Amino acid sequence: MKILAIDIGGTAIKYGVVNEDFTVAQSFEVPTEANLGGPHLMHKIMTIVGEYADEVDCVGISTAGQVNSELGKIIFASENIPNYTGIEIKKTIQKKYNLPVKVENDVNSAATAEAVFGAAQGYSDFLCLTYGTGVGGALWLNNKIYTGEYFSAGEFGHIVTHTGGKKCTCGNNGCYEMYASTRALANAVHEATGKTLTGREIFEPENFNNVTIHSVIDNWIEEIIGGLTTLIFIFNPPCIVLGGGIMNEDYVITEIARRIHARPMHSFREVQIKKAAMKNQAGMLGAAYLAKQEFEKK
Ligand SMILES: [Zn+2]
Repeated sequence: MKILAIDIGGTAIKYGVVNEDFTVAQSFEVPTEANLGGPHLMHKIMTIVGEYADEVDCVGISTAGQVNSELGKIIFASENIPNYTGIEIKKTIQKKYNLPVKVENDVNSAATAEAVFGAAQGYSDFLCLTYGTGVGGALWLNNKIYTGEYFSAGEFGHIVTHTGGKKCTCGNNGCYEMYASTRALANAVHEATGKTLTGREIFEPENFNNVTIHSVIDNWIEEIIGGLTTLIFIFNPPCIVLGGGIMNEDYVITEIARRIHARPMHSFREVQIKKAAMKNQAGMLGAAYLAKQEFEKK
């Protein structure tokens, strides 16, 4: 069997044909053009599906936004993709092509890929967090994604770590991602030094060894740990997988693990802190795996 996998991110759509053994036969990338809105994006998705409909057995889609994964429908998307909320991806594809379709949120797709092929293989439970512009989260319980009643479980970026703190895009104040995301780190460095640096630049030796920047980094790591502490108390997970480009900085992941493991409680000393292993194919492979499951249900 062959699976068409599509990974819709804020800037690019990656897509390609995935074989039954989850090797990627071929893959391509086109711009999302998110600013042109949900209907335009749906049109792009249909063009891609149309190209492959005759040669694949099912379609797996990983996408930004909150997804009702049973209906394959976007139930909430931020203004990054205007008018994406309400778009019925699965229904629209199935109206035209008689193919099993599975649509899942991007972090949930990536967590699925980590569970099946990546850093969390062998764990029936783990938490997955990705750090970038915001903080994404996914909850893998009993060998599957836990979605909650309305498909919004695992939004760890919006747990409140600073009551009355900075205003967040979700409408609340003091959300975790306002303090622990890569963007929050870049903002804090800017406030402290006046320099505008990317996450990667912050870790270049000339900046990393700057006393002011180094202390900003250390405070930011405390912010990351603050949220993880809450999650460890709630879930007592055996493993936490951390993703996003910033986690490729050895200092970050090592410090997070060191400080968490120094706590006296068992749940902190024993939890495995792992770096995401799947890199940029996580969304496609997670979606492909979920699509194959959908196909086998038929
Ligand atoms: Zn929020």
